[in-house]
Amino acid sequence: MVRIVSELYGLQVSVEELVSERDQNFRVDTGSGDSFVLKIAAMSEKRETLELQNQTMTHLSVHMPEGSVPSVIKSVNGEEIETYPGRDGRPHFVRLLTYLPGRVIAHVSPHTDSLLYSLGQFIGSLSKALESFSHPESDRELYWDLKLAPLTIERYRSHIQSDEDRGFVEYYAGLFESEVLTRTNQLRRSVIHNDGNDYNLVVRDPHSPERRAFGILDFGDMVLSFTVFELAVTCAYALLHKQNPLEAAASVVAGYNSVYPLRESEIDVVFPAICARLAMSVAISSYQRSLEPESDYLVISQQPAYRALRELRSVHPRLATAIFRRACGLEPCKGSTSVVEWLDAHSHDFGPVLDVDWDPETFTHLDLSIGSLLVPTPESLESDAQFSQIVHEHLKATGARVAVGPYDEPRLIYTTDQYLKWGEHRTVHLGVDLFTEEGTSVLAPLDGVVHSIGDNRSSRDNGPTLVLEHNRDGAGPPFFTLYAHLDRSVLDGLSPGMFVKKGAVIAHVGKYPENGGWPPHLHFQIVVDMLDEEGDYPGVATPREREVWRSFCPDPTPVLQIPPELCRYSEVSEAEILAVRNEHIGWSLSISYDRPLKIVRGYMQYLYDNLGRKYLDAVNNVPHVGHSNPVVVKALQEQAAVLYTNTRYLHENLIRYAKRLIEKVPPPLKVCFFVNSGSEANELALRLARTHTGRRDIIVIDGAYHGNTGELINLSPYKCEGPGGRGLPDYVHKIRMPDPYRGDYKRDDKKAGSKYALDVKNAADEKVAAFICEPMMGCGGQIVFPEGYLCDAFKHVRGAGGVCIADEVQIGFGRVGSHFWGFETQGVVPDILALGKPIGNGHPLAAVITTPEIAQSFHNGMEFFSTTGGNPVSCAVGLAVLDEIESRGLQENALRVGTYLLSLLEGLKDKHSIIGDVRGTGLFIGVELVRDSETLEPADTEAHYIVNRMRDLGVLISVDGPLHNVLKIKPPLVFTRENAEMLVSRLDSVLREDRARSS
Ligand code: PMP
Repeated sequence: MVRIVSELYGLQVSVEELVSERDQNFRVDTGSGDSFVLKIAAMSEKRETLELQNQTMTHLSVHMPEGSVPSVIKSVNGEEIETYPGRDGRPHFVRLLTYLPGRVIAHVSPHTDSLLYSLGQFIGSLSKALESFSHPESDRELYWDLKLAPLTIERYRSHIQSDEDRGFVEYYAGLFESEVLTRTNQLRRSVIHNDGNDYNLVVRDPHSPERRAFGILDFGDMVLSFTVFELAVTCAYALLHKQNPLEAAASVVAGYNSVYPLRESEIDVVFPAICARLAMSVAISSYQRSLEPESDYLVISQQPAYRALRELRSVHPRLATAIFRRACGLEPCKGSTSVVEWLDAHSHDFGPVLDVDWDPETFTHLDLSIGSLLVPTPESLESDAQFSQIVHEHLKATGARVAVGPYDEPRLIYTTDQYLKWGEHRTVHLGVDLFTEEGTSVLAPLDGVVHSIGDNRSSRDNGPTLVLEHNRDGAGPPFFTLYAHLDRSVLDGLSPGMFVKKGAVIAHVGKYPENGGWPPHLHFQIVVDMLDEEGDYPGVATPREREVWRSFCPDPTPVLQIPPELCRYSEVSEAEILAVRNEHIGWSLSISYDRPLKIVRGYMQYLYDNLGRKYLDAVNNVPHVGHSNPVVVKALQEQAAVLYTNTRYLHENLIRYAKRLIEKVPPPLKVCFFVNSGSEANELALRLARTHTGRRDIIVIDGAYHGNTGELINLSPYKCEGPGGRGLPDYVHKIRMPDPYRGDYKRDDKKAGSKYALDVKNAADEKVAAFICEPMMGCGGQIVFPEGYLCDAFKHVRGAGGVCIADEVQIGFGRVGSHFWGFETQGVVPDILALGKPIGNGHPLAAVITTPEIAQSFHNGMEFFSTTGGNPVSCAVGLAVLDEIESRGLQENALRVGTYLLSLLEGLKDKHSIIGDVRGTGLFIGVELVRDSETLEPADTEAHYIVNRMRDLGVLISVDGPLHNVLKIKPPLVFTRENAEMLVSRLDSVLREDRARSS
């Protein structure tokens, strides 16, 4: 090969063979950094076909962005196509093309929506460029031409071994004939590349966050065909390996349409064409396998296509088309708008759907949304019967006859497995629910014909269901009304085709549990296209498909004539919240994640967003005993309902709580002060220290954060030495962070603790009032100090006449697992202990505990008073938190689960070189990311990326540390082993993604 290149092209190169199907391809590199591909054509290849390829590339080099297609290199003889004897001794056609740098899309991860959108744009620009290209050779017969899919499938399908898979393939061939071949006169024609598979598409800028620059290779399958097939072929490959294949394809379609607008008739054929391409591909490869029965490769490589064909079989083609129509900015379900307009125009003609007085007092709103107080989360719902009871009580309490559950409302009640679709729960309600007494008559609101009746018996299903068809006579656009959860009698009373008059009794509200296991109610839904369903229909949709299903099932309010505010779900959107925050909330407040979360519900270690998506909370240490922990909530509610005053009256809660806290700390700590925030606690701790010693200076550790007040900012290098900071005042002595990973004395240095403590000794002069530190550093990057550090440090401080303040605002209350307090892990007792965050599980409570001696010094005539500190409600909350820690054994859990999690993370460290250090104790864990294990160059952009991707995958963690490269893990202490496993497996998959890898 080296000789061929030298003789024909005059280049001195090194050569490496590339994998290819038909041709023989070689990568060719010159010493000066230029790369080429040498293509030796198969014997069967015609010169005209190669000319077609070359001319296409030349055409595209003018009409496409530079570098997106290979260029043809002329030989020393000035030829684009040369001949040379091949291995078989016979002449072969030889070409030299430029090599497209970048990474084939098969090796790019993840395939995000935006990557797929950009890919669609690129293919759109290819279609646009090829519109003006023609070549006689392109009008050829090629078995990869989609036009011929039914014939190709017919020819090879017998080689597909599984009857079931063959059935799918035949179905898709039929679909292509009925949906595509009948419409060809409406499709544009052009030469197409016809093979946008994931080894032919190159991402030219794989390291840029946008990844918008693409290239395309291998023009061997070009053919004159229908232009839209270019898109369909690309989608057929782009949707493989995706959790939601249709949405992946929709992103490609949207990008394509933005550059090369599709006609409606073209959108109609995209789905059947995608499926036909996949079906053709498995049929052809089954045939190829019959020729090479020992080749496992062909079997394995077709698995994703088979999987996609099976999954897509459950999708009605008109639903898929609606998803693509939406991607192109069209009304998803054809005809939906005219139904909506007709319903609006006839809103005064409809009768009631229930036999009750149809006046405003009859109705009340029933909030079933994610954040509804009425509905327990799935983890806390005891039984379906409990839900019935809740609804019953709501009706009783409001005195209404009918409770209305709104249309378009996301709900948590659909988060069981049966509502899972492609990785998402179908949480969004598509009808209106009318909760009322069982047996209430259901009336036809307008004339109609019985379309179908169904008996949907599984638990949490539709139960007995009736569908009526309207406007069959053409008086308006046709549509359907659906009535679900009915009494079983409907199954015998009506039959399809029967005429039903407006006002007629058509059914009765069914009873629990035969109505599908729900509180008695009528689920009423409008349907524009039944998608060939009978007696059943989806009543809820995934958030991603929300808009599409809203088009299939428009708002039924015009028919129901119930005040819209009861019938329609509404919420303040993320965009509105952001806009108001941007105007009225201090701008220096940041928001977590690049795509902010609208969290509306929490339960124990889980958070839910407004659409019912569940997140594993592995970062919030404030909800220490679990978000909205019922025991804490009850204590708060009960005390708040009785008394909420200040501490200048005598109240039992204050002393009960103080005594419980004192039991938890070692002597001589025994005097409490109660305040409202960690900052207040540290601020008070400083005042105590300064008053007691009569000195001002403070020793702080580099990277520390102690709170947001003016003085605490002065003492927090994390802030005052960062952006916007004014540096440390002269009375603050900063010492090195005793970091056993990155610092001067490493983990294997047994004396590291004492060596670092010498910094304290050097800083502790006669002016020093106190040394303040977290016994394990949080914002500093989850730093666990070397053994003996605080022991020596405290001695030095005390030796110089200062006192020691432990800031346990982050780490106290059992988080560290082995001990209740962080300082205990170092075998010391502070003189002043500051507590916050977890102490109130989110309720603003904080405390300072000190020695009688220091408290005495502070008792100097000036009163200390915090208006709400230590109020009866806060104390009730504090007591409940301690109760929960003890009764649930949460400190022990932190140790058990934390140790397990640390071991899993250690395992991950062996697999991913970016993990430099895994550290922590209990459920206080840090994972430090570095680009190089020698230089410890911090992997900060990678850390940022990882945290955001983890959020996308449903796990919340954060980044901290002075170099912004430490993943912080500090979940509520109710975290389980399974939670730990999920966190680590998601982290493992994110760490495999391109942008999480520094090399
Ligand atoms: N000390 C430490 C160690 C902290 O991490 C924080 C808060 N991040 C504070 C004090 C201040 O607590 P708060 O925000 O409740 O005032």
